[in-house]
Amino acid sequence: MSIGQILLAGICALAWCASAVGQGASPPKPPPPRAEVPDLRTVSAVIVCGNCDQPFDTSTHEKVIEDLVSNKYIGELRKALYLQDSYHQFESKAHFDNCAFGDAIGYIDSLLSEVDGHVQAAQASKVRGDSAAVDAAMLKAFFALGQSLHGVQDFYAHSNYVELSVDQAKKSTDIEVIAPWRKASKDRINELAGRPPGKALVSGFVFWGFPQACPKGTLSHADLAKDKATTPSGKVKLAHLDNRSRYQLAVQLAREASQELINDAFRRWPLMKATNGESVAFEVLVDRRGL
Ligand SMILES: [Zn+2]
Repeated sequence: MSIGQILLAGICALAWCASAVGQGASPPKPPPPRAEVPDLRTVSAVIVCGNCDQPFDTSTHEKVIEDLVSNKYIGELRKALYLQDSYHQFESKAHFDNCAFGDAIGYIDSLLSEVDGHVQAAQASKVRGDSAAVDAAMLKAFFALGQSLHGVQDFYAHSNYVELSVDQAKKSTDIEVIAPWRKASKDRINELAGRPPGKALVSGFVFWGFPQACPKGTLSHADLAKDKATTPSGKVKLAHLDNRSRYQLAVQLAREASQELINDAFRRWPLMKATNGESVAFEVLVDRRGL
């Protein structure tokens, strides 16, 4: 056995020890979620009109879904929405986990910079008349936009923003929509996160996600998450808000923030709207990590 192999065997033994000790203290990591994306017709998708004067006409929902099933740009956006749970399963920044608010904001910024780079590449290819290169770049732009959309929605599902906001609201629309790619919302997140313990914005603790920035004693992801109507926090009903549940409020806010993100993207990069068309369909609050 070479020195390298001996060292490797030693490291593996240490890793085994660490994992054996860890198994006694914490539940095992969930397996990677499945990576396929369901057919658009089989899910509960919302449709938004991107940067339009009028909101989407919901009476045409089914027809538009049929049209969008074969839209490859929507396909890339939705693929990204799902694959964040597989490709970035352990990264707090991709899901607003572990109170890593600064990291999550920075990650959304970096993804929107990626969108910008792809759109600029597409515009340059357009000037050269290379339509295949335009198409490849625009598909990448929609994928990166979908990745950022996942993070924007997770803010509402994985933080206690809904819990912090509901008491002061007389109706659900009173709750401020946080758009974590905009300066004012970034400042608001930082202000809320800096409040005294017990009143501060936090997100759930995920033991195998990194980095971990929550104060000691923060609720676990399982206790705080509002990805589904059945989670301990999601199922709590709010009598003063028409008995709607925290899950329903998280969905409402995530949907509004998603609409704003698509609006801003189509305003900033008109080529995205021109390439895709004005209608964008996607799911709200996808979570496949099995937490
Ligand atoms: Zn997520």
